[in-house]
Amino acid sequence: MVVNRYERDPQKRTQCLEHYGYNCQICGFSYEKTYGEIGKDFCHVHHIEPLGEQGGESKNLDPIKDLIPVCANCHEMLHRKKIALKPDDLRKLFAAAAP
Ligand SMILES: [Zn+2]
Ligand SMILES: [Zn+2]
Repeated sequence: MVVNRYERDPQKRTQCLEHYGYNCQICGFSYEKTYGEIGKDFCHVHHIEPLGEQGGESKNLDPIKDLIPVCANCHEMLHRKKIALKPDDLRKLFAAAAP
């Protein structure tokens, strides 16, 4: 898994999580619901646009439009291909595969 530096920008990350909450925006997974106290306030944050298209300027990053909270599984799936999947596309795949 490639974690680029945007995903580690702690301030944008926090803003993103404050907006969306800590549930996975693809499958709805909640770390807190599943793991209890230790999972509280935990979630991966994915940077939607591939690295490079932002011109390398993290200050232009919009934490609401450009970042999305995802669980570790969905995050791995987003990065499964060389070019990251769009969250919408993964959401469709998730919905189609769900029993
Ligand atoms: Zn998920
Ligand atoms: Zn990512």
